[in-house]
Amino acid sequence: MRTKTFVVNPFRMNSYVYYCENTHEGMIIDPGFYTIYEQDELINFLNNNNIKIKYIVNTHGHIDHVLGNAFADEQFRVPILIHNDDLSLYKRAPEQGLLYGIKINELPAPDDSLNEKCILKLGSNELKIIHTPGHSPGGICIADFSEKIVFCGDTIFKLSIGRTDLPGGDYDTLIKSIKTKIFDSMDDDVTLYPGHMESTTVGFEKENNPFLK
Ligand SMILES: [Zn+2]
Repeated sequence: MRTKTFVVNPFRMNSYVYYCENTHEGMIIDPGFYTIYEQDELINFLNNNNIKIKYIVNTHGHIDHVLGNAFADEQFRVPILIHNDDLSLYKRAPEQGLLYGIKINELPAPDDSLNEKCILKLGSNELKIIHTPGHSPGGICIADFSEKIVFCGDTIFKLSIGRTDLPGGDYDTLIKSIKTKIFDSMDDDVTLYPGHMESTTVGFEKENNPFLK
């Protein structure tokens, strides 16, 4: 399995393509592709590597993570998946955009909602959904434990954590999510791919993250 990171849109958000180099099946995690340049970059990468997108998954419903959902939906016509508890946030994307001066139309409706019972198959791997509320009510991590890789959205960052001052955010809930669902449940050598900034590991954050001391 391979991970390709695209830093996109005015929020410098990480959009990921996670794919199997054998079967060429891939998924897009948080399609934030906003400009034509960013959209072309994605298409060229997929074409050059012969990748066929199977799912579009949003780690949560904040504007920066869903900005390219309409584009991705038109391009790939594959299921859009998001946790139920962030549906209302997702539907309010045009309103969220206004706060930042970004004009965005109503987003394509998700095809299904995710919960912890869901398994996403990609190549021969099975990806788990882990509900990590706090940054938003329906925030999720997408975990491929066979590869020791977790896409954690804005739950935790290298040496930081997600904001909790946005609608639906709650500090205590976020800290609890990180402690129970990440620190207590994942091996130290699991790599975390967050929604912003560089990747890190569970072990490094346990040792060094100032918000979890
Ligand atoms: Zn967010």
